[in-house]
Amino acid sequence: MKRYQLFINNEWINPASGAWFESTEPYSGEAWAEVPRGGLADVELAVRAAHDALEAPAWRDLTATQRGALLRKLADLVSQNINVLAETEQRDNGKLIAEVSGQVQNVAQWFHYYAGLADKVQGAVVPINKTGVFNYVKHEPLGVVAAITPWNSPLALTVWKIAPALAAGNTMVIKPSEYTSSSLLELAALVKLAGFPPGVFNVITGFGAEVGEPLVSHPLVAKVAFTGGDAAGQKINEIAARDFKKVTLELGGKSANIVFDDADLDQAVMGAVAGIFGAAGQTCMAGSRLLVQRGIHDRFVAMLIDVASKAIVGDPAKMKTQVGPIATKAQFQKILDYIEIAKDGGAKCVLGGHALAGEGYGQGQFVAPTIFTGVTNDMRIAQEEVFGPVLSVIPFDDEADALRIANDTEFGLAAGVWTQSLHRAFHMSDRLKAGTVWVNNYRATSFTTPFGGYKRSGIGREGGVDAIKEYLQSKSVWITTQPSRTNAFVLG
Ligand code: NAD
Repeated sequence: MKRYQLFINNEWINPASGAWFESTEPYSGEAWAEVPRGGLADVELAVRAAHDALEAPAWRDLTATQRGALLRKLADLVSQNINVLAETEQRDNGKLIAEVSGQVQNVAQWFHYYAGLADKVQGAVVPINKTGVFNYVKHEPLGVVAAITPWNSPLALTVWKIAPALAAGNTMVIKPSEYTSSSLLELAALVKLAGFPPGVFNVITGFGAEVGEPLVSHPLVAKVAFTGGDAAGQKINEIAARDFKKVTLELGGKSANIVFDDADLDQAVMGAVAGIFGAAGQTCMAGSRLLVQRGIHDRFVAMLIDVASKAIVGDPAKMKTQVGPIATKAQFQKILDYIEIAKDGGAKCVLGGHALAGEGYGQGQFVAPTIFTGVTNDMRIAQEEVFGPVLSVIPFDDEADALRIANDTEFGLAAGVWTQSLHRAFHMSDRLKAGTVWVNNYRATSFTTPFGGYKRSGIGREGGVDAIKEYLQSKSVWITTQPSRTNAFVLG
C-alpha cells in the first residue's frame, strides 16, 4: 500500500499526529493508499511557510512573466504524467478513466491559460481629476490562500484555484477532500520539480474539522477558496467573515435542464443524460431537474428511458463504462435515502430506483440510473441536492412557466435550454437566475470563461479573466509632481 506524506516548504514530512488514514477504491472497496492525518500543528507549519514565502525574494521578486514560465513548466510536467495522475484519481474516487484522463489533460490547459494571463492583468495610469499628482493603480497578490476542495473532481476543481492564485503571485496551503487526497500529493511532486520556491505550494491532508477549520481561521490566511457543500460553505463563510477574509465559494446546485417542444429531441435526450448520469450525477452542475414541455412529455420520457436503460454501468477502469460507482459510502447511502424520499413524496419511479450489486459491480456501491416522473417543484427531491444519478422530471406549459419553475430554487449554479428558436434561446438565457446557461448543450466548462453560482450556489467566479482578479487586490498610488502649499486641515 502506498503511504503518502504531507507537502510543506517543498519537503515531504510526516504528520505531527503520527497518524494516517486509508483511502479506498470505490469500485472494489479495497484500501490502496495511506493518507496523513494532518492537524493544527501541521496547519501552523504550512501557513507559516506560505507566509514566509510571500516575502522571500525567490518568489516575491519574480516578475509575472517569470511566474508564468513556472506555470508553463508545470503544465508540461502534468502532460507528461497524465497516466499516473489519472490512474491515481480514478482509484481514489471511482470516476470513469475515460473522463478523468480528459480532465487531467485539461489541468495542463488551465496552467497554460493562467501562465499566459499572469503578465496581462495590467494596472493603469489614472487620468486623475487633480493637478500636481500622478496616480496609478497596481494589482498585488492577496497573500496566503487556503484552498479546500471536494472529492468529485479532485484535481480539476483544485487547479481552478491553483492556476489563478499562483499566476497572481499568492502562496497556497491546500486541503483536499479526505476521500481523494492522493492526486493532489502527486501534483505537489510536479510543482517542486517545476521549480516553484519552497513554501509557495503546500498540501495538508486530513479532515474538515481538524485541518479545514484551523486553516480558515488562521490569522495569516488572507483568502479562502472553497468548493464543496452548502453546510461546510456556510460555516467557512462565517469563520472567514470574523477576520474579513476574502472568499470564493463554489457550492451546490439543483440545476434545471429545460426541453421545449421545438428542440431537436435526439440531441436533447443526449443532453439530459449527460446532465444527470455523467459522473453518476456526482457533479455540482448536474441537470437534476428536467423540465419538459407538456406536449412532448410522454414521448421524451420514453426516449430518455430508452437511452438511460442501456447505460453501461460498472468498472470505471474500463474505457467503455458509462456510469461508475458512487465515490463514498456516505454518499451512496444519501442517494438511496433520497430515492425513498422521492417515493414517499409521491414521485413515480420509471427507471432504476435501487442499488446495483453482484457480478461486475465490485463491492456493490452503485446506484442504477434513476428517473422520477410526476415530480412537482415543491417536493424535496426537486429542491435538495442529491448528488447522484437521480433525475426528477417536471412538466411545464410555456416559457413563463418554465422560468417560474427553474428559478424557484435556493440554488443558481447552472441551467440548460433546448430549443431551435433563437429568440427563445436569448430570452431564457436572460431570465434564468444561474451563473451558467447552456443552450443546446450541457455540462461544458472551459478555462476561458467564468464559472460560479447565483444565490446559494456561491460567491465569486472561477475560470477566465474574472478568476485571476479574485486573487488580486488593487493599490492606488499618488505621487506628487508639483509640490504646493495646501491647507493641511481641509481635504483637497
Ligand atoms: P463537503 O462540503 O463535505 O467537503 C468539501 C471540503 O470541505 C472537504 O475537503 C472537507 O474536508 C472540507 N470541510 C468540510 N467541513 C469543513 C469545515 N467545517 N471547515 C473547513 N473545511 C471543511 O463537500 P463534498 O461532499 O466533498 O463535495 C460535494 C459538494 O461539493 C456538493 O454539494 C457539490 O455540489 C459541491 N461542489 C460544487 C462545485 C462548484 O463548482 N460549485 C463543484 C463540485 C462540487
